[in-house]
This record gives sequence, structure tokens and C-alpha cells, in this order.
Amino acid sequence: MEKIAADIAIIGAGSGGLSVAAGASQLGLKVVLFEAGEMGGDCLNTGCVPSKALIAAGKQAHAMRNASRFGIADVEPQVDWRAVKAHVRGVIDTIAPIDSQDRFEGFGVRVVRAFARFTGPRTVTGGDVEVTAKRIVLASGGRPFIPPIPGLAETPHLTNETIFAVDPFPRHLIVLGAGPIGIELGQAFRRLGAAVTILEAAEPLARFEPEARAVVLEALAREGVAVRAQTAATAVRQTGDGVAVITSAGDVIEGSHLLVAVGRRANVENIGLEAAGIQVSRNGVVTDDRLRTTNPAVYAVGDVAGREQLTHAAGWHASALVRTLLFRAPTRADSVALPSAVYCEPELAMIGLTEAEARAQHGDKVRCVHWAADENDRAQAERDVEGFVKIVTGPGGRILGATAVGAQAADLLAPIGLAMAQRLTIRALTGPVAPYPTRGELLKRAAGSFYTPTLFSDRTRAVVRFLWSLP
Ligand code: NAD
Repeated sequence: MEKIAADIAIIGAGSGGLSVAAGASQLGLKVVLFEAGEMGGDCLNTGCVPSKALIAAGKQAHAMRNASRFGIADVEPQVDWRAVKAHVRGVIDTIAPIDSQDRFEGFGVRVVRAFARFTGPRTVTGGDVEVTAKRIVLASGGRPFIPPIPGLAETPHLTNETIFAVDPFPRHLIVLGAGPIGIELGQAFRRLGAAVTILEAAEPLARFEPEARAVVLEALAREGVAVRAQTAATAVRQTGDGVAVITSAGDVIEGSHLLVAVGRRANVENIGLEAAGIQVSRNGVVTDDRLRTTNPAVYAVGDVAGREQLTHAAGWHASALVRTLLFRAPTRADSVALPSAVYCEPELAMIGLTEAEARAQHGDKVRCVHWAADENDRAQAERDVEGFVKIVTGPGGRILGATAVGAQAADLLAPIGLAMAQRLTIRALTGPVAPYPTRGELLKRAAGSFYTPTLFSDRTRAVVRFLWSLP
């Protein structure tokens, strides 16, 4: 057994663990990083990256079927599933060097490719390496939750970890769960040629503004994705050529494949958390607002930290932690608003509070402004006019949140994130000049409309008349 004394030991080389390792090692600390699986974790290998690559392929197929509005004949694309999978693999392979062992060893990180567990409050052991560190960062991520539906365990099913390699291509994909994963993959598979039925026990994309969800659901319905809200799977069984799902509505849906997308669970098992005195809750390990676990030497980031399960949340956790640990500048994990996006088409994105959440906190001090994409010249030129932006403001016009739906929705919210981080009011969005014609004008127009009632009021007109009358 090789014994190492380190400054920081990190369990898990996904988005969170890698970001801590990159920051701490480049700032001169001695870092040991354990990874039992692929470098890059869920995001690179089985999550964000392959799903966005698959979505891009689906988008291309959809564009071919719907080109006649531009004067180009609609054609039914010939989808070669093996080639689509090679495209997805190629994208992963292109990005992989950023997360690679070589790159991190170049930073001076000792990378141990082994499953690590706590063997003491400040000791982690993996493979034949035992590390005692001043601080330990748990970044063990999460995995798909498989619900206890009768028959599911015995029936072949897919998750985001296996679907990108599925073979043959699904004839009819039944999806459990209309959260981001179910909606994104459901639409992509539909566009690539599968029949798709999504069963949702509650409401699809429930976290988002109702009017934004409605735009997405209408688009999915037009494309032939069957989304059944308030319909749970009560039992599942294998059939001769696939699966049958018995629903809470009492009917049976038969398909060729089943994708389970009903949420994720934190990876907290078999890592010796008890040995280190680290408590676990339903969502992951218990962390305080500085990401510290119940063991004062151990911190958690990313999916295991019992908070948002998003790659950019893991990245933010890592940067908050580097500030807290390395610069002694304690940074709260909830001190910035984290955006969240669903990369379906039309795209759906939000940041901060929804209107209902804002009203629950600030009552009638809340004002919302909207601007519809069909009033945007770029959207018209591209014949892609679905959607809108909505900005939620509170007392004094402070921005509390925003939603965008439509092309580039998630990118559109970047200035809102900046304004919220700087605690600016909606006036700040009216200042910069957006290039014409861009969808960026949507934000400016929405923000400008906040002032329309006062700008074009009788009072302002009287002021102008007076000023105009001056010599
Ligand atoms: P989720 O928790 O966001 O949604 C799961 C959905 O499944 C919920 O709507 C729930 O009501 C439903 N459900 C639960 N049990 C069910 C059942 N038995 N039958 C039918 N429906 C059922 O989970 P997800 O979509 O799997 O995503 C997991 C995590 O990954 C989330 O935190 C999500 O935010 C994140 N993620 C984000 C993105 C993105 O931001 N674009 C993409 C993928 C995943």
C-alpha cells in the first residue's frame, strides 16, 4: 500500500471533482484524484455531451423534413443509426482530452484509477493507494434512479447510461418521466424515426413556467411525441419483441424499448461514509451552505451534494469551494442563481424564480414583462417564431427570474444571470444596444416594455411639451 499525505483528496473525476482538481492543483496544492470509471463522469460520457450530440442529429433530420418553408423540398431523411452513434462517440472523443488523465497529470494531480472509500475521517483508500489529506472533496456523482415498479427489475430497460449504445434502433420507445432527460431524448428519438410515448406521473417539466411548458408540449405533440401527463407506470413486463407498460389509466402500452428517466440518485453507497462520520439525506450527503459535510474536513460538490443535479451546478460548487478552501473567502453555494435548460426544440430555459414563486415571496410587488418571438425580425427571417421571453421583477424592478422558450433560449438568459449576480434592476437591460437583427433584442424589448406605461404617459408628454416650449 502506497501512503500519500496530500492537501486535497478528491473522490470522483466528473464535472465537480475535475473542476476542484484543476483549480487546486494549478494554485499549487498537492491533489490526489480517484476515479473508478471513465474520466469526465456522467456529463461527458453518458449525459450532457452525448445527449446534445444526439439532439443535434435529430434536429438535422427534422430540418430535412421541414425545409419547404424555405423553398427547399421536404425529404424524409435516411437515418443510419450506426453512423449517428459514431457521430455521438466522435463528439465525446473530441471533448475527452479536456477531462483526461494526461491533462490532469500535467497539472501535477496524482490520478488514481480505482474505486475509493473512506477508511477514516481524513483518509481515503483506493486501489493500492491510501491518502491522508487536510481536506477531502466528495464528488461521486449520481446515477439513474430505478423506481420500484413491479416487473421493472426483471424487464430489460434503458437509462441515459445505456441508451446511446442501444441496438437495434427503437421501433417504439416508451419513456418513463417527462423531466429534462425524458423530453430531450424522447424528442430526439422521435426525430430520428422512432415512435415515442412518454408517461409522466405528475406534470411534464413541472419546474418551469406553465406558459413556457405549453409551448414545448404543443411542439412535441405536432411532431408526434405522445406525452401522457398524470399517468404513472403501475407495472412493466417483457413481451416477445419488447416491453409492455401497464398505466395508472388502466391501459397497456406496448413498445420495443423502455427508457427510465424518473430522476437521479446520489452515489453514497459503499464509500465508507460511516467511517468518516458523513451523514446522508434523501437527496445525497448532508451539506451546509458552504458545501461542508457533517465531517468538518470533508466537502461535497455536484450531484452527490444534495442540491441541483446539473453540470454547471457542479462547476459552480467547485469554484465556490476553491474560494472557501484556498482563499479563505467563504462562499455560499446558493449565492448565485443557477439557470436550468431543456435542450428540446423549442428550447426551454429559466433562471431564478418563476412568477408564482416570486408572488409567493413578494405579493403584488411583482411585475412581469414578456416579449414574443414572433415580434422579433430574426425569428421571422428564420421562420422560427415560437416562444417568448419573460422577466420577473420584484420591488424596485429588481430582477428575480426569467424564462425563455424558443431558439437559443438558454443563451438568451446569460445577460439575465449577469444582471441577477450584480443585483441590477431591469433598467440595466434597457441600456446596451443589441445588434439587429438578433434574438438578443427580445430581452431589450421585454425590459423596455417595463417602462412603456410611464414613458408614454400623460405626465411624460406634459414634461416633453414643456421642454419643447423652451427657447
Ligand atoms: P427529473 O427528476 O427532472 O424528472 C423526472 C420526472 O419523472 C418527474 O417529472 C417525475 O414526476 C416523473 N416520474 C417519477 N416517477 C415516475 C414514474 N414512476 N412514472 C412516470 N413518471 C415518473 O429527472 P430526469 O429528467 O431524469 O433528470 C435527472 C436530473 O438530471 C435532474 O436533476 C435534471 O435537472 C438533470 N438533467 C438536466 C438536464 C438539462 O438541464 N438539460 C438534462 C438532463 C438531466
